[in-house]
Amino acid sequence: MQREKFSIITYGCQMNVADSEVVVRILTKAGYEFTENLNDSDIIIFNSCTVRQHAEDRVVGRITQEGSRKKAKHNLLIGLIGCVAQRIGNELLNKIDSLDFVAGTDQYRNLPEIIEFAKLKNISNLQENYNENYEDIYPLRKKNVNAFVTIMRGCNNFCSYCIVPYVRGKERSRNFKAILSEVEKAGKNGFKDITLLGQNVNSYNFGKCNFAELLKKISKLSSIERIRFVTSHPKDLSDEVINVMANEEKICEHIHLPMQSGSDKILQSMNRKYTKTHYLKLVDKLRNSIPDIAITTDVMCGFPDETEKDFLETYDLMKKIKFDYTFTFKYSPRNGTAAEKFDNQIDEKIRLERLQKLINLQEKITLQKYKEQIGKSVKVYVENISKKDENEVSGRTCDNKIVVFSADKNLIGKFVKVKIYDAIGWTLKGKIYKR
Ligand code: SAH
Ligand code: SF4
Repeated sequence: MQREKFSIITYGCQMNVADSEVVVRILTKAGYEFTENLNDSDIIIFNSCTVRQHAEDRVVGRITQEGSRKKAKHNLLIGLIGCVAQRIGNELLNKIDSLDFVAGTDQYRNLPEIIEFAKLKNISNLQENYNENYEDIYPLRKKNVNAFVTIMRGCNNFCSYCIVPYVRGKERSRNFKAILSEVEKAGKNGFKDITLLGQNVNSYNFGKCNFAELLKKISKLSSIERIRFVTSHPKDLSDEVINVMANEEKICEHIHLPMQSGSDKILQSMNRKYTKTHYLKLVDKLRNSIPDIAITTDVMCGFPDETEKDFLETYDLMKKIKFDYTFTFKYSPRNGTAAEKFDNQIDEKIRLERLQKLINLQEKITLQKYKEQIGKSVKVYVENISKKDENEVSGRTCDNKIVVFSADKNLIGKFVKVKIYDAIGWTLKGKIYKR
């Protein structure tokens, strides 16, 4: 009998990408066949993000749009999983005719049954207790040179703007033994560059193993060459972790350290539990201990009660620190979070104007930082064929910069030395000079 085919379209953060890989493994094991081709699919699954309203609107719009496929293919099933499903899945099942099933962030093991129920039009309910770690499931990855490895799930921080703790539940760390064996296996399968994932990796804790210990243990695995991690919370980034980063060669010279705001008043009402001074001290420590470190960040503008003065503090801090890259966001109120009820919500027009100013500032800084790379020789892990030219490949430096250069595609998965001769936006152009 021919196997039923499914495809999965992923929105949102790396955690969702990693979760989709878990889902692909679960459904493949259950007898379904994965396909990238939507025309070929019997089941189309959307893995969704709800961190901002815009992300949620995009996926809901897409489900409605893809629903028209059912005119030609009556037995096609459409499902929604991930954070939007967890937040409002049942509501959407009632609202969108073409949506057949939903599954929350901890329900992926049950997807085969949920799909069977959906075929009978018998829809199952969302689960709200969070204790899943998908410990024993080895993700089936689409890419074959970099691997995301989830080390913890959920979050206990309740930043006042953030929906994550409500849709992913309380923080829990995976057993370090399971992590080590997954990383080792990934390395043996050709994934030399590993990114450890968690909402706040610095609070990783399993038994006596904290994040610094975990990093040391992973560094000893011979099958991998580069270790990255996201996301670090400034309140929990310890000297111990900075020391391990400085001493262990495999740990990449890059940290993503979300700053969110440069105003102490706003940081406090965001419930971030650090000050601007603390953040600056961390940047100094990182740059002193790891001189070539690249620091990237997330910054939000238009948070409730953000005055022009507060905004300028953020702007000035970005100018002072000079991040290699900043992901900039305008505040988006999320239902059920504390900040949604705060006074002095900021007008959309002002939020947008502030966002544009931050984007313009970072563009200049990034270009300047990238131009500083010209003339340098860097070690690049070759990852893909370039999107623009099939005779070129793209790869990443240890400090997380994309480099594009002419080379044969059989170098994908290998490390090469490249000399940088130009910087265009946040892409470096290089020339290979030694294998
Ligand atoms: N756990 C990570 C971030 C997860 S969400 C951390 O603590 O850094 C990724 C980024 O989205 C956040 O850093 C924040 O800048 C942004 N974000 C989260 N909620 C948001 C909201 N309601 N509106 C706008 N941006 C938001
Ligand atoms: Fe959200 Fe804060 Fe947790 Fe990050 S640390 S996921 S921003 S609540």
